[in-house]
Amino acid sequence: MNVSKLKIKKSKIAGKGVFTTRRIRGGQTICFLEGELCSLDEMIRRVNEGKEEPSDPLEIGDEEYLDLNEISRTFNHSCDPNAFIKGKNELVAIKEINSGEEINYDYSTTMNDNEERIKSAGRVLWTCKCNCMAKYCRGIIDQFKTIPKKRQEFYVKNKFLPDFMLKHFK
Ligand SMILES: [Zn+2]
Repeated sequence: MNVSKLKIKKSKIAGKGVFTTRRIRGGQTICFLEGELCSLDEMIRRVNEGKEEPSDPLEIGDEEYLDLNEISRTFNHSCDPNAFIKGKNELVAIKEINSGEEINYDYSTTMNDNEERIKSAGRVLWTCKCNCMAKYCRGIIDQFKTIPKKRQEFYVKNKFLPDFMLKHFK
């Protein structure tokens, strides 16, 4: 797969989303999320200066973020996702995704922000009301440690987490 098989369209979850124009098999790589590599300090500076939305950066390591490009930041969150982030920034299908379906991943699986550092910079941790419409929607997008233990175990057991998260939660 590459991004030419993906399409940005209006989504029922939120604003716009990314949809596939091809059937994707479970375990198949969908694409790599891309963006400028930034440190936590740099990300805080950009958000404080209004150059960056607090929702845009993707955490890919301890205090390491990608300032995502347009298509990469358009993938919506779901509490019952059909894709996950593998390694650093590889988006992989959890299950079969049919042509025309929206692709989403659980943002919380990449959220283990350094609360102390963010607070000392005068900011609060980013959260967002969730409208994913999944049967077990958590109602809020928040740090991984806040999601139900059972759900955490599901992600850990199946390794549906990026490497830096697997290191912290096992
Ligand atoms: Zn939800």
